[in-house]
Amino acid sequence: ELLIGGGDSQEKIFVSVRVRPLNKNEILNNELSDWECINDNTILYKNDHTPIAERTIYPAAYTFDKVFGEDRSTREVYEQGAKEVALAVVMGINSSVFAYGQTSSGKTYTMTGITRYTIKDIFKYMQKHTERKFVLKFSAMEIYNESVRDLLSVDATPLRLLDDPERGTIVDKLIEDTISDQNHLLQLVSICAEQRQIGETYLNEKSSRSHQIIRLTVESYAHDVLGKDNLSTLTGTVNFVDLAGSERASQAVTAGTRLKEGGYINRSLLTLSSVIRKLSHGRNEHIPYRDSKLTRILQPSLGGNAKTAMICTISPARNHVEQSRNTLLFASCAK
Ligand code: ADP
Ligand code: MG
Repeated sequence: ELLIGGGDSQEKIFVSVRVRPLNKNEILNNELSDWECINDNTILYKNDHTPIAERTIYPAAYTFDKVFGEDRSTREVYEQGAKEVALAVVMGINSSVFAYGQTSSGKTYTMTGITRYTIKDIFKYMQKHTERKFVLKFSAMEIYNESVRDLLSVDATPLRLLDDPERGTIVDKLIEDTISDQNHLLQLVSICAEQRQIGETYLNEKSSRSHQIIRLTVESYAHDVLGKDNLSTLTGTVNFVDLAGSERASQAVTAGTRLKEGGYINRSLLTLSSVIRKLSHGRNEHIPYRDSKLTRILQPSLGGNAKTAMICTISPARNHVEQSRNTLLFASCAK
């Protein structure tokens, strides 16, 4: 079932949390999983063998729109945490789905799966609705050091952002590939995912410091009831945003060459946090979209009538507990 909220009221951001399973090294190191999803909405820090006076984690239980424990599949995360937002694109509604969390917590794994499920559902929808003619477009970009690069281009020249009076901020010269073959599109998504695969020294990999946006635009045309020559057109865009590791926003930046990168990533992530927090207040206040490239690019798909889903990923291991807690605090501010 595809629920699409109408009306012009600002909708809440749908915030969910996903805990990945312990990985092989963590199991070999005898790490224990410290987090438990006790129902669909509540995640609990199981550190309660610690005397209250010595506990470092307050509160121990956090509630969100949805929580997904280690045994939940990406399909479930998609169905219950992102589908309604992402698939609104076929109705001409703009949306963004974010993965937020520390490096190695499962952002790319989760976002790639969600993107693939969305593509399959968009194709199903297009095949079912033969009364409309659909055009599907794909673009992919990366933001690194406040510089935007087209992932579909061999040319590494940074792309400029322009202000269009009608469409708002646009990414100048961004390639938009019109794609009618589902497998070709899925292959492109896999290539983008491979580019973000982490290496042994992953904490220093570029992928942990950059943001990746995969964007699908669905245009559709139909003869409306008034007659054959009257075409009704819908255009929607959905952004799948695999964010830089959230440790970039919270940790003191290490000295030397990393300083510039860290500083810029702080700026984009911190601006996003601030934008998300202000949107979630639903008040009529100034939203600082223009303070970073990421939020400028996403502005048409954030706030207003756009739909937003935020999937916050955490590692279950005790040695990541401070980062997991930071992620949950961010998630709490967003809901
Ligand atoms: P991030 O993008 O946040 O740095 P990744 O998505 O690359 O993290 O995940 C780190 C590793 O953990 C990868 O090898 C990935 O395949 C694995 N992983 C992440 N989430 C899950 C999950 N829910 N189930 C199984 N493996 C996962
Ligand atoms: Mg990643």
